[in-house]
Amino acid sequence: MIDVKRRTRWENCGLCGEFRITTREHVVPRSLYPVSKSNSTFQRITIAACATCNNGTADDDAHFRNVVVVAGEPNDAVKELWSGPVHRGFDQVDGRRRARDLFNLMRPAPDIGPNLYRIYPAEDPRVLRIIRKIIRGLSRYHELTGPVSDGQVFADVLRQPIPQEIVAAMEHKTAEPDILEYGYLCLDEPPGLLSAWFLRFYERTSFLGLVFADEAARQEHIDPKPNTQRGSNAA
Ligand SMILES: [Zn+2]
Repeated sequence: MIDVKRRTRWENCGLCGEFRITTREHVVPRSLYPVSKSNSTFQRITIAACATCNNGTADDDAHFRNVVVVAGEPNDAVKELWSGPVHRGFDQVDGRRRARDLFNLMRPAPDIGPNLYRIYPAEDPRVLRIIRKIIRGLSRYHELTGPVSDGQVFADVLRQPIPQEIVAAMEHKTAEPDILEYGYLCLDEPPGLLSAWFLRFYERTSFLGLVFADEAARQEHIDPKPNTQRGSNAA
């Protein structure tokens, strides 16, 4: 969908670095913020991004929000989102698809109780793509490096607690901890690894990110994982 009201200009895209027609794009998707937080200054941080880099991300943003909103105990920000835009989203034309996208990630968890489910955000490439995009945007915003391509970033859910000494060394940003708290550490060891990130949404769902000098360095450090989608798109 093209929003004609959006101002466009020629400049270097903050995500891919190419000189292209760009629009200002939010580094942290607006859809993650409930109405009561709409005056957040952090939420208004934007970078220039081209149409190629933005392609399809508005839909993925909404899906990403739905996933992090259902994962775990809700805080007040989540409750507000759940009763507002998330619910409304399911009532829209493509609401069934959105709901199905979400349910495809849920697995019955009889060990914790009847009718309870676990959700696995890392199984969904769209979720991880948004994490990578946020990290690319934040990397640019903090001027850590030049533009970071999608291929330079590895993202996953945080599977182990980050060692305390690394947390202590990280640059911490807690603009709105009830929405997004994040930290990063610039590295030059091992060669090719530029920075490490953690992002925690709504005080509970945490992701890890690693930014490499280029795609080859990422492939060298991170073994490509087998496809873990398990047919979740086959509804
Ligand atoms: Zn771009």
